[in-house]
Amino acid sequence: MVFARDTEVALATAAALVNTLGRDADRLTTAAGLDEFVARWEFTGARTHDAAELAGTRALRPVLRRLWTAGDPDVVAAGVNALLAEAGALPQLVRHDDWDWHLHATPPHAPLATRMAVEAAMALVDVVRAGDLDRLRVCAGEDCADLVVDLSRNRSRRYCDAGCGNRANVAAYRARRAAS
Ligand SMILES: [Zn+2]
Ligand SMILES: [Zn+2]
Repeated sequence: MVFARDTEVALATAAALVNTLGRDADRLTTAAGLDEFVARWEFTGARTHDAAELAGTRALRPVLRRLWTAGDPDVVAAGVNALLAEAGALPQLVRHDDWDWHLHATPPHAPLATRMAVEAAMALVDVVRAGDLDRLRVCAGEDCADLVVDLSRNRSRRYCDAGCGNRANVAAYRARRAAS
């Protein structure tokens, strides 16, 4: 494990949220889509199920992509601090459901987009403090811009889970065969 478990899950969740806005399609356009995302990534806490909630979560995506791809700790720190200040984040140790002690920095009644933003920001705090911003990547697949979090020991992960790595292997294999 590179980071605490809640940090690793929060990074995966942030990447998944940003990746709903793919190069080919936006997969977060309806209330049902948001429900599915919230269920899949096990967000607890209050929901309003209104247009503002959907708009708020959608608008968070470019913000998180910018922080993810900034690469410069000064830039990320400034962005993270802004998100935390805007939300009035107050870190508290909590224990709930199957989760042992971890941090929440927003109350459960805060708007969903605020909770998502703060959860991502708190995870980025850990990444910046560890000097590990290079673990936040963009998929190296040719037609893919999905975010990837590299939690491998040898920092070798280049591709997203959507099959880009396989496609790249096949393409390289074909190129070698064509060349020989
Ligand atoms: Zn929790
Ligand atoms: Zn990819």
